[in-house]
Amino acid sequence: MPFFILGRSKCVICHQPIKHRFDAAELPYIDPNVSKSLSQLAKNFVHRQCWKEWEYAKLFSTLAFDLVGGERPFAPTKGSGDDSPLKIEFESDELILFWVVALNSYRLQDFKLLVTVEMPLAKFPGIVAFFVSALSHQGFTKEYQIDSDIWKARWVNSALEFTVCEELEIVDRFVVPSDRQNCWLTVMKAMLNTVMEKMGDGSANAFTSPEGYAPGTRRNAELIV
Ligand SMILES: [Zn+2]
Repeated sequence: MPFFILGRSKCVICHQPIKHRFDAAELPYIDPNVSKSLSQLAKNFVHRQCWKEWEYAKLFSTLAFDLVGGERPFAPTKGSGDDSPLKIEFESDELILFWVVALNSYRLQDFKLLVTVEMPLAKFPGIVAFFVSALSHQGFTKEYQIDSDIWKARWVNSALEFTVCEELEIVDRFVVPSDRQNCWLTVMKAMLNTVMEKMGDGSANAFTSPEGYAPGTRRNAELIV
């Protein structure tokens, strides 16, 4: 599995070195039985701009999503079984909110944008509120700290840009375009509703106890919001 090395890791689409960490996105796994050539690119890096313009991007993201989400037609033995390290909480239009058992953390993965956001359980309600606010209010500009990372949200015309800083270094920067904002908001609101329900039940420990959420109970976000 290639690791990202600044200036040496090459984009597998344009074959040029990636000069900034925040320009890079990592390709997810896809099933080699479905496309051997594309599957060999998994875990390699691409420029975000190259990914946006790549003719195989749509196919790649769909196949990557199908491996873990959707109907999983290509990988019936892998998925959100009881012993799976990843359990699907919500999904909407190739955006999945996973529960990551080993990390005691949620992971938001957008297969179309090649974006992954790790959200530790202890910080979860605040993180979700940050994203819901950012997505709901055009013009929203705010910073939010997730562990040692500072997240900055700002609107650029109709697109919402997130910049992630570690110490003073920018480690990631991505844009949620207008055609992806709805599914992000749908998943975030569905999760926020679940949080609110827990509060309403008087389950004050819901935020700090995985059992409070019953993670791994797969739900379709569209049905809840
Ligand atoms: Zn490139």
